[in-house]
Amino acid sequence: MRFIGTKEDGRVVVLGVPLDVTTSFRPGTRFAPSEVRRISFDAIESYSPYLDADIEECDVGDLGDLELPFGNVTGALDIIEREVSRLLERGKRVVCFGGEHLLSLAAVKAHLDVYPDIVVLHVDAHTDLRDEYLGERLSHATVLRRIVDLGADFCQVGVRSGTREEFAFASDRALFFHPFSLPDAGRLSEVLGGRPVYLSLDVDVLDPSCCPGVGTPEPGGVMYSELVGFLAGLSGLNLVGADVVELCPLVDSTGNSAVVGASLLREVILLLCAP
Ligand code: MN
Ligand code: MN
Repeated sequence: MRFIGTKEDGRVVVLGVPLDVTTSFRPGTRFAPSEVRRISFDAIESYSPYLDADIEECDVGDLGDLELPFGNVTGALDIIEREVSRLLERGKRVVCFGGEHLLSLAAVKAHLDVYPDIVVLHVDAHTDLRDEYLGERLSHATVLRRIVDLGADFCQVGVRSGTREEFAFASDRALFFHPFSLPDAGRLSEVLGGRPVYLSLDVDVLDPSCCPGVGTPEPGGVMYSELVGFLAGLSGLNLVGADVVELCPLVDSTGNSAVVGASLLREVILLLCAP
């Protein structure tokens, strides 16, 4: 079932963001949007039994992939921010599909203009809270720190890799910090109440045994069924935007990671389709 790519516009729109410039280990996230689109044409149902919802019954559009300049980080981030802002001004809910995690900085910046009290729900194996990485302040390893610099509140779950300082920063500054595993969604809704939430899902939160096709694999992660159950629990939150990032499909020669990424994208799209 072709679950994205059939319609160009909708209330919820998927935007491919093949940003792939600061990846420190295995590059190739730029190929995720096209690979997932291909997979969605024939390998994935549009119906999610987890959410009892069907993309075919929702108003979902696919805007294709942004064209980004290679080697120009700030230029690429500007293009992403402008496009997401333009879509939010038209009343859309946007799912950015990466691409590397740094794209979230531009997407969150655009959302902050519309939702000044937005909370970023960061789901990742990595803390991404370094102040700089190899001398660079703009990196997939610093993205959440730059988002904090913008003034956004954040919750962080599933993390199991980072520096001691990053873990201390997270436990000090996060509204809710839940390392190593995924919390019961009820605890998150207690913390978040009705505040607008931006979900940033780095697929490397999954264990590499079920999703090896990522830029920076990290052992000790959650299983797919845990993640999809966690996502279903978010349906009670006021989700206003999301991204799915860091899938690096071509390093997994079985092709299974692209199927995992496409399946997660379906769940995230459906979460944003909720009224
Ligand atoms: Mn990340
Ligand atoms: Mn990560």
